[in-house]
Amino acid sequence: LGGPTPPPDTVELTRRRTAVFGDALAELTYSDPVHLVRGSAATLTDSDGRTYIDAYNNVPVVGHAHPRVSGAIADQARLLAINLRYLHPKAIELGERLVATLPPGLAGDLDTVLLLNSGSEATDLAWRLARAATGHTGALVTHFAYHGVTTATNDFSPEEWRSGWRPDHVERFAAPVGRDPDIAAFGDAIERLGARGHRPAMVIVDPLYTSDGIHTPDSSYHRELTATARGAGALVVADEVQAGFGRAGDHLWSFVSAGLAPDIVTLGKPMGNGHPIAAVLTRRSYVTALGEQAEFFSTFAGSPVAAAAGLAVLDVIEDDDLVSHARAMGQRLVARLHERTADTGAVREIRGRGLLVGVDLAGSAAEAVSRVTDRVRELGVLVGTTGPTYDVLKIRPPLAITHAQIDEVADAVARAIAETLIDQPQQPTQE
Ligand code: PMP
Repeated sequence: LGGPTPPPDTVELTRRRTAVFGDALAELTYSDPVHLVRGSAATLTDSDGRTYIDAYNNVPVVGHAHPRVSGAIADQARLLAINLRYLHPKAIELGERLVATLPPGLAGDLDTVLLLNSGSEATDLAWRLARAATGHTGALVTHFAYHGVTTATNDFSPEEWRSGWRPDHVERFAAPVGRDPDIAAFGDAIERLGARGHRPAMVIVDPLYTSDGIHTPDSSYHRELTATARGAGALVVADEVQAGFGRAGDHLWSFVSAGLAPDIVTLGKPMGNGHPIAAVLTRRSYVTALGEQAEFFSTFAGSPVAAAAGLAVLDVIEDDDLVSHARAMGQRLVARLHERTADTGAVREIRGRGLLVGVDLAGSAAEAVSRVTDRVRELGVLVGTTGPTYDVLKIRPPLAITHAQIDEVADAVARAIAETLIDQPQQPTQE
């Protein structure tokens, strides 16, 4: 892709990475990879001492190396890390706190929490619960969804399917794109699944459709989706692994903003601000149905260290009012991006909710889009890409990002678009 020549230590570290990890591991971000050594709030520092604004990583939701979270982890690690077969108050307190966050009416009857270590495990457990509760064998996912890396959850992650992989028990439906999304596509997918002998146990969606390119349909879409799923005897799973923990800017959970009424909620990524911890929130009866089939236990899940991280994250989000901050920062970002890109003609749409913002680059080729992200990085800001053809810039910073940083992000993105897509001889196709 061209760009600057990486320094020798980066080349050597990249060589050792491939030598020891092999080819299956996800590629490094950027053609000239970033070698990071430190983070603080929404700022990252590389091995040359250069700082970047992190407008990409959602795991450090309250900010990189947040002292309250790091402190809580360190204090607990000095005392005890033990599993849930022993009594300890921290995980219990975390479970109670999570249940208390669920809004009455939409998910107020989800009263039971199961703790895990990763988003993939949460999806996997949601799947087991859905099968145990319904006795059905099929699943429905959106076209370019991602829900996990394990054998079971890779089947729900078409974004990762290679070589025509098409699991028989999984059917895809189009993500809700545009103003009037096609809900009939969902019913059709249930029929196709039925024709292969599978009744649906669950439909799983990221309420902000991050991997599908970031979409925010009207809540009537989700009401119909829920009614259709229930009519077919399927449970609705809200995957909050990407969009949860305040990012949507209205509530801690993005399914609330989206008007989705889930039977199961999965949590991960930001839950420990970097410490591995995940959870499933659901109805007691489904957990009882699963319990009749198998005991549930996972060694590290709910360790006091993980729970201390989870509790500290909830505390900081509450004390620093980060949900409202995410809303205000998201609005500021979108307004400034509109202002700066309006006359470029390269942006089809700027969309999203709270601090999950997509800049749709009107079908630009993936190679051109990665020139944009490379240029944004040269300007000192990290952003990513998403969508089935990776032509949507994904802006998803820690919620602790400041006003001034938001302005820098918008300016860098607009400048990179202008320099890369407009001032170049080949212009992108426009609609
Ligand atoms: N669900 C969603 C929506 C995700 O984005 C991810 C991770 N990208 C997962 C599940 C899986 O989480 P993990 O990588 O922690 O296993």
